[in-house]
Amino acid sequence: MSQPKIVVLGAGYGGLTTVAKLQKKLGVNDAHITLVNKHDYHYESTWLHEVAAGTLHHDRGRMKITDLINSAKVNFVQDTVTAIKPDEKKVELTNGVLEYDYLVVALGFEAATFGIPGLLENAFTIGSINQSRLIRQHIEYQFAKYNNESVQKQERLNIVVGGGGFTGIEFLGELANRVPELCEEYDIDRSKVRLINVEAMDTIMPGFDPELIEYAMNSLEARGVEFKLGAFLKECRPDGITIEQNGVREDIPTLTTVWAAGVRANHLVEESSLEDNRGKVEVDANLRAPSHKDVFVVGDCALIWNKEIDRPYPPTAQIAMQEAEICAHNLIALIKGGELEEFEFINRGTVCSLGEKDAMGSIFGGKKLFGWSASVMKKVIDNRALFKIGGVGLVLKKGKFNIFG
Ligand code: FAD
Repeated sequence: MSQPKIVVLGAGYGGLTTVAKLQKKLGVNDAHITLVNKHDYHYESTWLHEVAAGTLHHDRGRMKITDLINSAKVNFVQDTVTAIKPDEKKVELTNGVLEYDYLVVALGFEAATFGIPGLLENAFTIGSINQSRLIRQHIEYQFAKYNNESVQKQERLNIVVGGGGFTGIEFLGELANRVPELCEEYDIDRSKVRLINVEAMDTIMPGFDPELIEYAMNSLEARGVEFKLGAFLKECRPDGITIEQNGVREDIPTLTTVWAAGVRANHLVEESSLEDNRGKVEVDANLRAPSHKDVFVVGDCALIWNKEIDRPYPPTAQIAMQEAEICAHNLIALIKGGELEEFEFINRGTVCSLGEKDAMGSIFGGKKLFGWSASVMKKVIDNRALFKIGGVGLVLKKGKFNIFG
């Protein structure tokens, strides 16, 4: 192989971290690296709930890809991947075809709607800058419209968030802070606004320590969030939803349902001939597709089994970035010679934001954090992610330093 062609699909946490390490460790003549992404910017997926709530401007959460890569070593192609053809060693894009010697699939997640009637058509999802910006605009429009009608419609002020996992709870934390501002701005009594969380399990944040869960619920309830636990979303309509809780059905009028209760891997993975398990590729220890050793899969498109609890690891940015480090190492080893490394997840803990100044989580082998200290830790984690993809410069430009309010 003269100059191997590496194609990286997706400039999210997985793809960009892979490219950051490749461009650092490989010389200009070692490989021909191409990064493909549908937008000319990278966005911090883990900040999208803030954009959706309107507490963070979308430009704070995104950055031009050409500012993050070394264009002498990496060729950036702004295009949409339409098909992955591993048997032919090529990738189809809207505007062309790319051939590769090594492929990295890092195309991230999509919302999973589990066939719930009307959900796909009528609910919003927090999956990209565009979707998040739409949610922010939509909510603000409902507040603006409320006092401009002869009959005021309560459904404009009822906001339903489906799912009490990470995304749903972080979004509610931001919304609970944003709603009083919107009420002030549009002359609406705060008590008229309902923030409703619908969760099918009998707890929010399943898998978290009960003390942390209780803290999160108290914090959100104190700011007006209503929890409907053990409640199944049965239908989503343009003007309302139906839930079933303890065998009783209830209709909730709302023009705003945000579905945050499930993600799946990018559909292109399932449509390719890479093995799939729940729509993902169950990668080998070196993060390669078992059937195609020239294809690496990282982030939310990859499935790795956590043997300790006999379940797959959840899709997180933390895992995506750790996988990307190993993926880049292994690509370099294949090209320049060296030992392949096996992926082993190092749990650095998880912190769930509950708004600008509140959070909860556990770090360093289980130490629990609540409130201000957790929210400072959350900012440290966010800044660390920026550092990984763009160094100190990006941290200084986009980082979160507002720790005293
Ligand atoms: P992504 O980061 O989603 O990147 C995928 C990239 O591929 C995107 O740039 C996308 O535009 C691009 N792309 C997609 N389709 C195509 C196509 N067809 N053609 C070209 N380009 C395409 N994880 C944590 O660890 N901690 C958290 O606190 C946390 N909070 C979260 C909060 C929210 C609101 C959300 C939505 C997620 C959160 N997550 C968190 C999960 C985390 O964001 C994901 O696990 C992570 O983004 C996965 O990284 P990835 O590289 O696989 O995909």
